[in-house]
Amino acid sequence: MMKCVGRREIVVFLDYDGTLSEIVSNPTEAFMTGQMRAALEAVSNKFPTAILSGRSLRKIYEFVNLTNIYYSGNHGNTVISPRKGNKIDMYDTTGDRARRTFEADAGMVDKIVKSEVKKYPDFRVMLGHEVLEVRPNNDLNKGTALELIMGKMGFTSSNRAVPLFIGDDRTDEDGFRAIKRSGSRLAIVVSTVPKETEAIYSLRNPTEVMQFLWRLVEWKTMK
Ligand SMILES: [Mg+2]
Repeated sequence: MMKCVGRREIVVFLDYDGTLSEIVSNPTEAFMTGQMRAALEAVSNKFPTAILSGRSLRKIYEFVNLTNIYYSGNHGNTVISPRKGNKIDMYDTTGDRARRTFEADAGMVDKIVKSEVKKYPDFRVMLGHEVLEVRPNNDLNKGTALELIMGKMGFTSSNRAVPLFIGDDRTDEDGFRAIKRSGSRLAIVVSTVPKETEAIYSLRNPTEVMQFLWRLVEWKTMK
């Protein structure tokens, strides 16, 4: 898998929910395990690292709380660089995404949310992993965030750096497409079942993601 990297730098991009943390019924409690935090810290000390999340920047920063990495929130609509929350691009309109467990009929919830959001042309609904997401109706996504962050890190040419992205959800496919566009093959989907994806590799769950992150650190140390 790492043969294609050569002497280039790997830039690590990671989704949060379902990738670094387990999917939980209460989204405000989607914490990383202590072991995952240790793995992420080790990775961020060895590689330029960024988190790409659909959540608001505030919330994702609260969860991860590492100062040496980039963060993108709201599906590529907001990005902050590592230097003390220095804002480099801002389009924060969505606030927190609504993720709740409904006892009610999912079909009915879907219908109500869609008909409500229709009243606001600046927003659209997207179906995710057990979640309906209301997001800005623009072309920004995790793929554009990945490209923006590569640029901000100074990696404008693909002969210096190779992006790697791990994600589990529909919105992560934009990230996988950006990986492909860059010429990298390091797109990894997290899924217990085979599914249609732009990713080339797969891991089954956050525990396997954690093991992979440690292997990445080991690989870099041996190099
Ligand atoms: Mg996810």
